[in-house]
Amino acid sequence: MSSPLEGIIIQHIKDNGAMSIGDYMAMALGHPEHGYYMTRDPFGAEGDFTTAPEISQLFGEMIGVWVADVWQQMGAPSEFTLLECGPGRGTLMADILRATRHVPGFGEAAQVFLMEVSPVLKEMQGWRLKDYAPTWIETVDEIPQGKPLIVIGNEFLDALPFLQFQKGVDGWEERIVDVKDGQLCFGTREADGEMLELIPFHIREKSAGSIFEFAPNRIGFLSAVSKVFEKNGGAGLFIDYGHKKAAVGDTFQAVKKHESVDVLSHIGEADLTSHVDFEMLVRGVKVAVHGPVQQGQFLKALGIDLRATALLKHANEGQAQDMQKALYRLTSPGEMGELFKVIGLSSGLKPCGFE
Ligand code: SAH
Repeated sequence: MSSPLEGIIIQHIKDNGAMSIGDYMAMALGHPEHGYYMTRDPFGAEGDFTTAPEISQLFGEMIGVWVADVWQQMGAPSEFTLLECGPGRGTLMADILRATRHVPGFGEAAQVFLMEVSPVLKEMQGWRLKDYAPTWIETVDEIPQGKPLIVIGNEFLDALPFLQFQKGVDGWEERIVDVKDGQLCFGTREADGEMLELIPFHIREKSAGSIFEFAPNRIGFLSAVSKVFEKNGGAGLFIDYGHKKAAVGDTFQAVKKHESVDVLSHIGEADLTSHVDFEMLVRGVKVAVHGPVQQGQFLKALGIDLRATALLKHANEGQAQDMQKALYRLTSPGEMGELFKVIGLSSGLKPCGFE
C-alpha cells in the first residue's frame, strides 16, 4: 500500500515535472506533515536503525575526550559554542557532557547548541539535555558570532540531500525521480553544465552506466562551518559512512526496521541516505582538514580499549558481554570500524585521533 506522501510526490511531479534526487529526498525526509524525520523517533531495536552513540556510552566518551582536547588546545576559552548537528536522541551530547564534567572550566564554558529539524527529536533532546539549557538552531547562519566553536556531527551529513549523475552513451546526465504509469520511477535529464564541470576528471572517463553522486548541500554546509572556524577559531568532527576518495557507484539507500528497502517506496516511513564522499566534501573548506580515518582506528587512537577495560572491572557478566559486543561493533572492520570514517576540521590545531 502506498503512503500518503507517495501520492503527494506523484502529484507534485505531475504538476511540476520530474525532480532531482535531492528534492525527492528533502521531501521524503522533511515534508512538514508526513516527512520521515517529522513523525518519529527512528532509532534503536524497535526503530529503523541504530547509531554509534546508541550502541554504547563508549562512543560519546571518546568524542568527549576529543572535544575537551581541542578546547584545551584553543586555550580553554571561557565561553564557546558547542554545537551538535543532527543530535538524534541527544545521547551523544549527553555522553560528551558527562565524560567532560571533570575537566576544570569546560562545563561552565560550553554553550550547548543543537541543529535539528525533527520536532519529535527536538523534544527528546530537550528532555535528555534539560540540565544544559540547549539552544536549537536550523541553519549555520544562526551560529553565534565572535565566539570559538566546536561542532560535532554523527551520521548527519548522510542525511543531507545529494544528486546523482549517470553516464549515458552521449555523456553525463542527471538521474531524476519521475512518474510512469502512475508509479514513481528513475529517469534521466540533461545535466546542469556547471555541475558537470565539478565532476573529477578520473570520474568523467568512466564507462556508460556509471553513477556518480554529488552533494552540493553537504559541501556547502561544511564550507559554511569552516568559515566560522576561520573567523572565530574552533574545530569540527564529522563521522559518517562513506569513501575517502571520489568514486562511482549508487549508494542511495532506504532503511526501514533494520532492513534495506526500495528507495522509491515506503516514502516517509524509511530513512533515506547515501554514503559521504569525503574527498568532494572538503572542497570548499578553507581551514585545516584532518583525516579522514576509519572509525575503528580513530576510537582506538583515543583509547577506547583502555576505557572499556576500566569499565569491565566493575561490570557483571551480562554487562561485560554487552560491552565487548559494543566495542566490537564500533571498531571491528567487518562492523562499523572501517566503513565509517571520521574527518576533522580546525583552525590550525592538532586534534587527537588522526595520527
Ligand atoms: N547523530 C545522531 C542522529 C543521526 S540521524 C546519532 O548518531 O544517533 C540524523 C539526524 O540528523 C537526526 O537527528 C535528524 O533529525 C537530523 N537531520 C536530518 N536532516 C537535518 C537537517 N537538514 N538539519 C538538521 N538536522 C537534520
